[in-house]
Parts: sequence; C-alpha cells; structure tokens
Amino acid sequence: MKASTMPQIDPTVCERCAEKYHTCCHAEPQDIELCFPLSDSEWERVKAGAPEINGANEVANTPEFIKTLKRLFPHDGKKIDIQFPANETHRVLQSNEKGYCVYLTEQGCRLPREVRPWFCLLFPFWVRGKELTMFTAQGCLVCRETDTVEESLELLGMDKPQVRELFASLRSAWGFDKGE
Ligand code: SF4
Ligand code: SF4
Repeated sequence: MKASTMPQIDPTVCERCAEKYHTCCHAEPQDIELCFPLSDSEWERVKAGAPEINGANEVANTPEFIKTLKRLFPHDGKKIDIQFPANETHRVLQSNEKGYCVYLTEQGCRLPREVRPWFCLLFPFWVRGKELTMFTAQGCLVCRETDTVEESLELLGMDKPQVRELFASLRSAWGFDKGE
C-alpha cells in the first residue's frame, strides 16, 4: 500500500525490499538479455572493488535488447546501433543459479557504493529529456511505498541533481555522448 503523506528518508527501504521481493539485483533467466549492459569503465571499477569475483557474462545483442535500449534512449538510435551492433555481444553482471547478481550478499551488495555500476545507483529513477521519471517496478518497495518521483527521492535520501549526474555518467560510460 502506498503512503498518503510525504515519506521520511528510510535508509532501510532496500533491506526491507529484500525481505519481501527479489529486488533489482535479481533477473529471471528469460530477462537476462534485457539487463542493463556493463561498460568497460564500469567493469574496471567493479573488478577493482571485488577482485576476488569475476562476475560478468557476455550476452547477445538480441533484437529485443536493442529495441528496449531504443525505448529507453529514444533520441540515440544511431549511437545504439554503433555501440551495440546486432549479432555481437555486450557484457552484463553475472547472476547465480537463482537469478541473483553474484555481487549480492545477505548484507546487500558487496561492492562499495563508489564502484557500483551506474544503473545500480540510478534505479528506480530514469531521465527522459528534461523529465526525471521512474520505472514502474512491482517488486520495488520504493515504487510501492510512494506516489511521486519526489516522494521516492525523499525516501531514498536522494535529490534530482544527483539522479541527473548518475544518468549523465551512465550515458557517458555507454558511449552515448561521443560526437555530441
Ligand atoms: S552490483 Fe550490487 S547493486 Fe548492482 S545488481 Fe549486483 S548486487 Fe545489486
Ligand atoms: S531500489 Fe527498489 S527494487 Fe532495488 S532494492 Fe531498493 S526498493 Fe528494492
């Protein structure tokens, strides 16, 4: 049930989410092809943060993956075709046999925050042009407990400039700013 008043910062929301749902650190096998790609620069940071784990896989740039990227970045079709050519592959975080990211522990992500992939830090927020939006994820407690982007930001203790900065870092890491 959603809150009717402006929520307070709740640093435990993702922990509470993990008690009930799979969280954003989980992907069903059939959804792996649609997981966010992990760029070279992000992968270097992840490896430095947990050198004991080699937690990436290559998956095909399927038509559905490319279609999804183009939906997320409606003005970057040509760049997507260049960065993610059909019949090639892209890197994703590896999942275990139950579908959980191999960097996940019972205490949450083992990676220090500063080396986590940009999409991990950004979720559940997204940016469309000038608008800051959110994914409507049923299994995300932030989405379930809030009614607006502002409330979600409040709950996570984040603000709009932070989200825009993360989004800009993600775009840059994925090579979408080249040639601009
Ligand atoms: S890297 Fe960490 S935050 Fe990102 S999906 Fe894996 S466990 Fe979750
Ligand atoms: S961001 Fe959402 S889906 Fe991810 S752990 Fe937090 S509440 Fe759950």
